[in-house]
Amino acid sequence: MAASGYATTPTKSSYDVIIIGGAIMGSSTAWFLSDNPDFTGSVLVVERDASYENSSTAHTNSCMRQQFSTELNVRISQFAADFVKNLRGYMGGDERVPELDIQNYGYLYLADNNSFADVLRDNQKVQLAAGAETRLLTPDQIAADYPFYNIEDIVLGSINTKDEGYWDGGAVFDWFRRSARERGVEYVSNEVVAMTKNADGTRVQSVTLKSGEVVSCGQIVNASGPRAARTAKMAGIDVPVEPRKRFTWIFSAEQPLDRDLPLTIDPSGVHFRQDGPKTYLAGCPANPDPAVDFDDFNMDHGIWQDHVWPIIATRIPQFEAIKVVNEWAGHYAFNTFDQNAILGPHHEVENFIFQNGFSGHGLQQSPAMGRGIAEWLTYGEYRSLDLSLFAYERIVKGQPIIEKAVI
Ligand SMILES: Cc1cc2nc3c(=O)[nH]c(=O)nc-3n(C[C@H](O)[C@H](O)[C@H](O)COP(=O)(O)OP(=O)(O)OC[C@H]3O[C@@H](n4cnc5c(N)ncnc54)[C@H](O)[C@@H]3O)c2cc1C
Repeated sequence: MAASGYATTPTKSSYDVIIIGGAIMGSSTAWFLSDNPDFTGSVLVVERDASYENSSTAHTNSCMRQQFSTELNVRISQFAADFVKNLRGYMGGDERVPELDIQNYGYLYLADNNSFADVLRDNQKVQLAAGAETRLLTPDQIAADYPFYNIEDIVLGSINTKDEGYWDGGAVFDWFRRSARERGVEYVSNEVVAMTKNADGTRVQSVTLKSGEVVSCGQIVNASGPRAARTAKMAGIDVPVEPRKRFTWIFSAEQPLDRDLPLTIDPSGVHFRQDGPKTYLAGCPANPDPAVDFDDFNMDHGIWQDHVWPIIATRIPQFEAIKVVNEWAGHYAFNTFDQNAILGPHHEVENFIFQNGFSGHGLQQSPAMGRGIAEWLTYGEYRSLDLSLFAYERIVKGQPIIEKAVI
């Protein structure tokens, strides 16, 4: 038995569904399956690191936004907001489940040139049509609402303060897992290391665990985060997902702001937001930004001093004196094709289901993606929200989804 309470060996030799990866995506699918009375099958979740120490889920910044340029991405986040705010209700009114809220300080995109301002204007149209409450702000309006910013180079801002900001992703993850297990989903602390397929290669028949057991499956879900490509390769499938490093810093300020700091997307690509009452969070990609080793979580200490801190202090002069109190490096499961989700069945290996490539927005997408994959596994179609835009086949056909609001 691992420290997590997961056994290492499955109780059966065959399951209707095997989910590879038991972090937030795999657990969301497991929970939605357990919540669907039409699904009566057995579910095994295999998790190679039951501490979740290196998962994307453990390194997240845990924010949600409706400022996407693709309508479907807006709707996915709207379901996330509804799910988070009604978590207890979704979980059958169980009084042990916490009542959660969203800290609605919004994401504030700042444009320092007209072409990006036009992108924000176009995005706002998509967002409003989907029911979001995005507002465009002139520099004067930004100065009035948020007087602490230096906006001398800014031509436009875009913000939405309804259902956009921080939420407690850890609590939702815990309850997906806890509730799914209580309802009979089996989690094991083990690793899928190989797969077998049928003679014509159209179905995965079994997985082999690191401990040697061979377990048969009806359907298989790849929810293995940055390791998605490695998992798919076991079924002879290529998927364009690789681990990319993203840095996070928590800092305190000698002079804290007098109001919440929105999740500010600086034109430089650095972002920062309110964290605790007197602490703030900043993040940025590595530069350059290559695929990294699965186990490489080294910090780049120079990047704060030479790049991030000067940008923050220029944008918010009051942050001239700030002190890092915590920092970490995490991995995006970066979809190099179009940075969007890859979801649903493979077009040839029909029982191999993708739930991959969520880059920096997977936490907020987990409720809709888990619900969608559970519907697919149960009915062979999406019912609540049509997620077929994210099908793997777009990669084969070379048809990327152009999402202009990627962080
Ligand atoms: C720094 C950072 C900031 C982020 N900020 C946000 C944010 O603000 N908002 C947002 O929505 N998203 C954010 N994200 C993205 C979000 O955290 C991820 O998209 C999400 O957590 C992905 O969950 P997952 O379950 O797909 O992957 P993971 O959490 O990586 O889980 C995959 C699991 O699969 C397991 N696994 C892999 N291979 C195998 C195998 N062969 N056998 C068994 N188990 C296996 C791994 O051990 C792991 O636990 C951020 C990510 C990072 C890194």
